[in-house]
Amino acid sequence: MQLDFASMAILIAINLAVIGVALPLAMGTPISRAAQHMQGYFLLQALGWALILAASRIRGTTWDPIFSVAATCAASAAQWLMAQTLQSWLGHHPLSRVVLGLCVLGPLGFIFFIDSTAQRMAWYSLCHGLSIACLGWMCLQPQRPAAPYWRYLMAGCALVMSCSLFTRAYLATYTQWLNAFTQDGVANHVFAVIAQVCGSLVLVCMLVAWRDETNQKLRELAMNDQLTGLANRHALLQAAPLMQALAKRQQLPLAVLLLDIDHFKDVNDQHGHSVGDQALQLLARALKSEVRSDEMAARWGGEEFCLLLYAHPAAVDAFYQRLCVMVQQQSLQELGFALHLSGGCALQSLQQPQSLPQLLQHADTALYEAKSNGRGRLVFERTSIAPALAPARAAQEPSPAP
Ligand code: GH3
Ligand code: MG
Ligand code: MG
Repeated sequence: MQLDFASMAILIAINLAVIGVALPLAMGTPISRAAQHMQGYFLLQALGWALILAASRIRGTTWDPIFSVAATCAASAAQWLMAQTLQSWLGHHPLSRVVLGLCVLGPLGFIFFIDSTAQRMAWYSLCHGLSIACLGWMCLQPQRPAAPYWRYLMAGCALVMSCSLFTRAYLATYTQWLNAFTQDGVANHVFAVIAQVCGSLVLVCMLVAWRDETNQKLRELAMNDQLTGLANRHALLQAAPLMQALAKRQQLPLAVLLLDIDHFKDVNDQHGHSVGDQALQLLARALKSEVRSDEMAARWGGEEFCLLLYAHPAAVDAFYQRLCVMVQQQSLQELGFALHLSGGCALQSLQQPQSLPQLLQHADTALYEAKSNGRGRLVFERTSIAPALAPARAAQEPSPAP
C-alpha cells in the first residue's frame, strides 16, 4: 500500500472540520463554555492542517511563509482553547500560563526561523510538544474532582503526541529526514497516523468529559434548591440514612431541627414577593455559614428548613440562638425589618434509634407547639428534651411579627 502524506493530511483536515461543524449539531445550544472551546479547538485544528496543505501547494511563492505562519497560529490557538476547555472541567492549573507562553513563543520562533525549514520545524515541534505535555500533566493533576478514565486517556494521547513532536524536532535538527512538513517519508507518515488516532481519542475524551459535566449539572439541579442554593428535600432524604447510621455507630447525638420563618406571608404581603425571596436567601446564607460541612441544611419547602446536626440539645439550643441573632441583625440591615424563626427539634435516641419519618414527625409536632406557644422559640420534642431547656424556652417572650 502506498501512503501519500498530502492525501492523509487532507483526510485529517476534513475529519477535524466535520467534527468541529457536527459537534454543535450533536450538542445543541446552549452549551457550556468548555464545550464551546472544545468545538473551537477542532475547527482551528482543521484550519491549521488546511493551511499547511495550502502552503505546501504554493511552495516558493510569497504566500508560502504567510500560510505556514498562519497554520502555526491556528494550531497554537487551538492548543490554548484546549487548555481553556480542560481548565473549565478540571479547575485552574498554574501550568496553563506555561501553555499560553508556549502558544505565543511557537509562532514567534517560527517567524524568526522562517528562512530555515529545518529550524522552524524543530522550534515549532518543540514548543507544540511541550505545550501538549503540559496539557497531559494538567489532566493528571485535576484541581477539582473529575472522573479518571477520560483524563488518563487524554494524558496518554498527550504523551504520545508530545513524544512524536519531540522526535520530529530531533529529526529536523540532526537529520535530513524532514526537509518539509508535507514531504512523503516514514517520519511524516507516522506522525500523520499518530495525529489522526490521537485526534479521534481526544474527541472521545472530550465527549465523555462533557457527558460527565452534563450529568453533574443534572444531579445538582435534582439535589439543590434553585432559589437558595441549599440542598433540597430529596437530597436531605438521601443523605439522612448515612448520617443516622454514622451517629448510631459512633454513638453521636443526631438532631433533626425544623426551622420556620414566622409570619412569612406578611413579609410577602407587605414587602413583595422578591423581598420574600431575598429573605429566604439571607436565611440560607446564614445556615450555610453556621452548619458544619459534615452536617446538613436543606430547604424543606416554602419558608421551612430542615437541619441534621450532630449535636446534643444544649448545642442545638446554642446553635438556634446564634442563628436567630445573626438572621435578625442581617435582615434588619439588608431588608429593613427583622426576621424571626421558630424551631422544632427531635433527637435520635441512641438506645432505640427511630426512623427518619418518625423523627421528622416529632420535630414537626415540636415546631407546631413552638408556633402555638407564641413563635420565636425552639421547642424540643418531649421524649428528647434536656429538661433544663424547656422552662428557659417557655419563658421567652414571643417575637414581634415583621
Ligand atoms: P407562620 O408564622 O405560622 O409560619 O406563618 P407564615 O405566614 O410564615 O406561614 P404560612 O404557611 O401562612 O405562609 C407561608 C408563606 O410562604 C406563603 C407563601 O406564599 C410563602 N412562600 C413559600 N415559598 C416561597 C418562596 O419561594 N418565595 C416567597 N417569596 N414566598 C414563599
Ligand atoms: Mg412560617
Ligand atoms: Mg411554614
